[in-house]
Amino acid sequence: MASAPLGDDMFDEFLEQRGHDTGTVEWDENYNKKQCPDCGGLHGSRATQCSVCGWRPV
Ligand SMILES: [Zn+2]
Repeated sequence: MASAPLGDDMFDEFLEQRGHDTGTVEWDENYNKKQCPDCGGLHGSRATQCSVCGWRPV
């Protein structure tokens, strides 16, 4: 197995770009609050950005 077929790499990238978990990151929800998936900080439902670490949904 000296070299992997190029096609596999391209297919992996295709899957990542369309992936459910890797493409879009949203707030976690916890008791009607938004929870930062990065640092776990809790924020009100109107929060658009984590005030703890600066994370925001992509
Ligand atoms: Zn955070």
